[in-house]
Parts: sequence; C-alpha cells; structure tokens
Amino acid sequence: MVGAAAAEVELTLQSRDPVSGEIRITREKVDPRRVGVIAVDVWNFHWCKTATMRVDALVPRINRALEGARELGMTVMLCPSDVVENYAGFPQRERIFSLPSTTVPKVEEVTCPPVPDAGGCACGRERCAVNYGWDGMHPGLRIGADDYMPDTQQEVYAVCQQRQLTHLIYVGFHTQVCLLGKPMGLRAMKSAGLKCVLARDLTDAHPGYDPARGFTPDLNTEQVVEHFEKHLSPTIDFERDLTRWGKWDPSWVLDPVRITPWGTLARPHLFEQPVIVTLTAPRQPGAQIRYTLDGSEPTPSSPLYAGPFEVANTTRVRTAAFRGNQRVALESEGAFYRLGALPPLPEIQLGDLKPVRSVGFGHTYGGTVRYSGNTQAPQKDRSNLAHELRINRQKYERGLGVHAPCALSYELKPEYGRFVGLAGVDEHVVAVSNGSNLAKYPSVNFKVFIDGREVAASPVMKVLFPAWRFDVAIPEGAKLLTVVAQDAGDGSREDFADWANVGFVRR
Ligand SMILES: [Zn+2]
Repeated sequence: MVGAAAAEVELTLQSRDPVSGEIRITREKVDPRRVGVIAVDVWNFHWCKTATMRVDALVPRINRALEGARELGMTVMLCPSDVVENYAGFPQRERIFSLPSTTVPKVEEVTCPPVPDAGGCACGRERCAVNYGWDGMHPGLRIGADDYMPDTQQEVYAVCQQRQLTHLIYVGFHTQVCLLGKPMGLRAMKSAGLKCVLARDLTDAHPGYDPARGFTPDLNTEQVVEHFEKHLSPTIDFERDLTRWGKWDPSWVLDPVRITPWGTLARPHLFEQPVIVTLTAPRQPGAQIRYTLDGSEPTPSSPLYAGPFEVANTTRVRTAAFRGNQRVALESEGAFYRLGALPPLPEIQLGDLKPVRSVGFGHTYGGTVRYSGNTQAPQKDRSNLAHELRINRQKYERGLGVHAPCALSYELKPEYGRFVGLAGVDEHVVAVSNGSNLAKYPSVNFKVFIDGREVAASPVMKVLFPAWRFDVAIPEGAKLLTVVAQDAGDGSREDFADWANVGFVRR
C-alpha cells in the first residue's frame, strides 16, 4: 500500500478550450518511473542578449526541478541539439548508441495553427544581429550521472522504450521554436504516441519586445503557452506539482528580476536612442520590484518600480524583489551604454604613422613579438586576418586590424588636437557558418591612454555590436598616446579587433 502510493504522482494538467480559451484542469496519476523530463536547448548563448539572460534566469529553477524529478525516479534527458556533438565522450551521450534500435511509430498527425513568434530579439529598437555563437549547454545546468543526451526523434524514442516511458515533460527553449519543432521536440514525440506535457514555468518563448504597446517577453511566453494549451499539449506548473510531491520548497529564492532589454557588464546594451526598460518578476506575483540607477545595492527602501522607465544615458540598473523586508528574488543587473556622437574622420590616419611601441598576442623575445597562431602584427587598412575591416555589417577602408591584447603607442605632435576613431570586434567570425560555435567568444575592451593615463574606454564589445566611438581632446603638451585592445575577461579566443577611421584631427 505504502509502496504503491509512493510510486504514483498526480500531474495537474492545464489545457484550454481552443475557441474560448477557457482553462480546464484535469489530474492524472502516473508512475514517475514512466515519466521522462526532456530539457531542450538550454544553451550557453543566444544571438539575442536578452534571450540569453532569460535562459540564464531560469537555470537555477530548472536545476531544482530536474533534481526533484531524478529523486522521484523520472528519466532526465538533456538535448542541446545543434551543439550535441560537443558532448561526444560524455557517458550521457555515448549510452544513447548502445540502445536497441527501434522503429518510431506514427500514432498521430500533430498540427496546429501558426504559433505566434515575436522575432527572437527582445532588445527593442537596437536589435541584436543573428549569429550562431552557442557551443554548449548553460554552464550552470547540472548534468546528472544517469541522464541521457538524445538528439533525434529515434534516439528519444529509444530512451523511452528502454525506460518504458509513457509521458514526457518538456522544459527549455524556445517554446514555439526548438522545444516544439526540433526532431526531439514535442511535436515529434507526440506524433510517436508519447503523452507530452509542457512545463509552463520552465520555458521561455522566442522573445519579442514592444514597450509602446505593452508587449513584454513574459507576455509573449504567456501567449505561446496558451497556444500550446489550446492546440498542442496540456501544461503543468512544475514548481507547484513538485511542491505537492514534497520535492520543492516554495521559500527557495531562485529567480532574478528580469530586465528587458537585458544587457550585462559582460555583454552590454549599446544604444543611441533612449531605451524603455521593463522589470518583471512573473514567479513572484504581488512582490515589490525595487531598483537603483546609481550602482548601489537594491534594498527594501530603494525606489519602487511602477512601470517601464526610460534610460537616456549610460546607466547601470540594479534590481531585486521584496515582500516587506524579505528579498524574494535574486538581484539582477542591467548595463546600458550610450554611444557618443559620431566622431569626424581623422586628418592623419593612425595607420600612416609609425608606432614607437607595438605589442600584441604572442611571446616576446628580445623586444620582438612572436605572434601566436594565425595572428600577426597590426595590419594597415585590413583586419588582422588580412580581410576587409568589417564591424557590424559595415566595411571600412581605413584603419588597423589587430588581435587583443594589442597596444600601440604614438608620439603626439603639437598640432594634434583630437584623437578620433571607431572600434569594434571584427565580424569575420560570422562569415563561416554564421559564427557557429565561435561567435560568443570575441570580447574586447578598447582603451585610449595619454601619457600613461586612461582617457577613454569602450564597454565590453562583442561581435556585431555597433562600433564604439572615440573622440578625445588632446591636452597641450601631451607626449604619448596609446591605443589598446584588451581581452574583456573571457580569454583571447577570437579577439580580432578593428580600429576604423582612426587617427588625429589637427587643432
Ligand atoms: Zn536582443
């Protein structure tokens, strides 16, 4: 009796009338050993910075849910799809190939009206550019020793046969794209006869953002979940069911306040026009979201968020949610950098001058740099790989192509009045397979020093970011100017960096 009770859990399934949208709740008892939990595309990177951070925001919650599922005897499958081959040698991947081969039945034709898709970038006016930089699952996602990493419909079906699974609970990203449509996705497995369920608290839709009409990424996800409930599958609130099953403590603080758009110090949001910032905490309804704009830690007495607000200048937003004095959401941070005015073209090109110091990515012997790998000394009017200078889909005729770290020092002449130029990550990395596996890596800080003192610096620059703009007045009597391209903290991999239209304007 006790054993039988322990071997059963009750799913709280939510679906909707396809026409009226009216919610229907049904309950279904199931042996947890017959249940698979399948996490699709919990990637470490997405071309949209806000989408990336929204995945980041859900990972602590996904970890807790998968842990509870494992403890109940459910089978956990982690499916990184495009980047699955980067898991070659993981037992969770290799054990897939020892499963008996099976034929996948077609039990049902799964169709639905077109799913709403808001376009995939939630950054508003200054839209992110598509690239395929992800190369793995989120580094915070815990991989269980007994988990599986199937990739195709056949592979998932083979796991289901091996483990005698009847139900699949889907978590992951993005709800209406990969989670639904990939070969291991909900549509394919429902068609093969599995009872598929979407965990509506552990997914996020391919996002969009239009603050002018109150459209947020959270609202977008709600609409996509509703579409599933009407046309595709029931959903569960995994937190609530796990709580009823004794595997979740509702007092856990797992969710950061979500920021839209969500630039970070490591991948900031660059803008020219003022940005409308929205803060949300959908898992903490009724909590007070508080925030600061001066870099200080948010506290229960910080300003209360009352609705979207405008950021017009370089700003660091720090936010958390509270009930009274108790913090109920993790602190989160947004980094917004306003681009300066476009500088004039230089009258004297940096590339036409001979630097008094030129150091770069290599080992130095007797004052000479032996450049590493395929990098070389700064290239005049070419990228460091001797291609066109290209930053964010724009070609530049004049400039210097370097690889971080690189410092170039020039003697200042009395007639040099201003240092001007543009700087950015060279976009060559997206020329092959749209940056597959690599586009997340370039990260460069550009800096300008005069007589040993830093006088200007860019935020962290990533591939397909608009070029940063330098326009620096040179004090009378200054002797030496140094331009630096520096790794921004994640290693020098792919740190090809361009200075474009860079040089001096006369007094
Ligand atoms: Zn974006």
